[in-house]
Amino acid sequence: MGPVTRFAPAPTGWLHLGHVVNALHIWSVARERDGRVILRIEDHDRTRCREEYVDGILEDLDWLGFVPDSVAPRQSSAERTARYESALARLQNEGLVYACDCSRRDIAMDVPDRFGEETRYPGRCRPRSLALDSTPARRVQMDTGAESFVDERLGEQQQSPAEQCGDLLVRDRARNWTYQFAVVVDDLDQGVDLVIRGEDLLSSTGRQIRLAKLLGRAAPPRFHHHALIRNPDGSKLSKSAGDTAIRELRGAGEPAENVLSRARLLGRDVSRF
Ligand code: GLU
Repeated sequence: MGPVTRFAPAPTGWLHLGHVVNALHIWSVARERDGRVILRIEDHDRTRCREEYVDGILEDLDWLGFVPDSVAPRQSSAERTARYESALARLQNEGLVYACDCSRRDIAMDVPDRFGEETRYPGRCRPRSLALDSTPARRVQMDTGAESFVDERLGEQQQSPAEQCGDLLVRDRARNWTYQFAVVVDDLDQGVDLVIRGEDLLSSTGRQIRLAKLLGRAAPPRFHHHALIRNPDGSKLSKSAGDTAIRELRGAGEPAENVLSRARLLGRDVSRF
């Protein structure tokens, strides 16, 4: 039995060529290694996700011929919500969780606390012991120390969550579970042992490994971060440079095979095909 991996789009927009490049990686690795692909709709952020995007993503994947081996429950489902609550309770029982009422502005005002592109949470609420019942946002303590892992493409990596992001937000002020938390609990419960995704998420990996360990996961998944398709100047691919919504191409009468060829061509430099 090969690896269990997943394709995990967030329904905050239509399926784009960048997603198709990612899906080609995932399905090709799974097929080569006799593995399985789980389709997981990551709709943890109820404020940004839309039902029409969910339907559109599913239709486009079907049209392109990406058939998953199984479909995970939606992150917004009652079943997953209950599970996130219980995972949070576990961390809480270990004294690792605290309530936080910081706004983005409070955090941004702490100018020196930056790590590269990221703003590190300065820990303002850690000593405050805010009442849990009146403050919905939760953070998990990230103690010092590094997480090491070997990325299948990029090799040996070391990341220190306490320096990069500080105490990790797991539920926000609107009671949305955060991406970092939902993805770790889902990967654990769904037996995902190989994560294949774009290198824009590389910096999240150390904190996800840390969270997985805190939740009792013995062996974290393996990781493969592929390059992103980019504009010639290195910036993120824009619509004008070819990151078109698949439904537009489909609507314009382009055959699925052409769209797949286009994605293969765009993805030819991103390590696999
Ligand atoms: N849902 C995330 C996204 O659409 C991907 C999650 C992951 O691969 O870890 O960017």
